[in-house]
Amino acid sequence: MKKTSYCLQLPVATEIPLVFDSPHSGIQFPQDFRCQASLAALKTGWDAKVNELWEEVLEEGGTLLSALYSRMVIDLNRAPDDIDPDLLAAPWALCKPTKYSDRGMGLIRKLALPDVPMYDRPLEIEEVLQRLCEIYHPYHQVLKTRLDDLCQQFGAVWHVDCHSMKSTGNKMNVDAGERRADIVLGDNDGNCCEPGFVEMVKTSFESLGYVVALNKPYKGGYLVTHYGQPLLNRHSMQIEINRALYLDEAKFVTNDNYQSFKRDLGVVISNMATYVRAKVAAA
Ligand SMILES: [Zn+2]
Repeated sequence: MKKTSYCLQLPVATEIPLVFDSPHSGIQFPQDFRCQASLAALKTGWDAKVNELWEEVLEEGGTLLSALYSRMVIDLNRAPDDIDPDLLAAPWALCKPTKYSDRGMGLIRKLALPDVPMYDRPLEIEEVLQRLCEIYHPYHQVLKTRLDDLCQQFGAVWHVDCHSMKSTGNKMNVDAGERRADIVLGDNDGNCCEPGFVEMVKTSFESLGYVVALNKPYKGGYLVTHYGQPLLNRHSMQIEINRALYLDEAKFVTNDNYQSFKRDLGVVISNMATYVRAKVAAA
């Protein structure tokens, strides 16, 4: 297995306390990774190009952290103990499965797609521990350190957890079969981010002509609920982008709208940076 599991890109302009993370845009697999699902099935969980879509944040003084490995190896947007015990070859007291594990998409996926199992064998606890130690914990450690350092330095920090979503959910999703909005913002019903930041991002997208939904169908996963603590001036928000806006969803290559959509995201990034600079200056 490779030593580095993430890519940390630091600001190329005067630093501000704005941190983006993209936990599902990786598509590498460890050399010793074995599963029975096809690569086509594995790719369906890939938030392709999401890290590239948001890279302009570096020019505004923000930070960008991206995963290198596929979420199908281990999902960075899950609690480290969100494990379905049925996946394992032996009982493990650590397992605390949540609604995600119940749907086959916990920390370690049981299903690649509805009715498509990931594995034809039980997993050894050692395999899970190896993925936690070599992929999961390093990513969370670097994110936590970055958020801690910036919050200490500036008195507050804004964290944006970046994803993309299928234009229509499948059977494993809570909104199976429904067409989705262009953009879904998740702040766990106001519990992980101050409302002003969310409102500013919502208005930014709407001014550009996009349809924005709030907390539906996604309220925000483990990353924002774990790191967002608005009462401590630590704000986390999830952004889901409808893949049809920038991707050929069947082929996982960018479509003709990619560049113009990325330019629009540049406007949103610029608005976020202006907001953060103003908040820090007023503190
Ligand atoms: Zn995602």
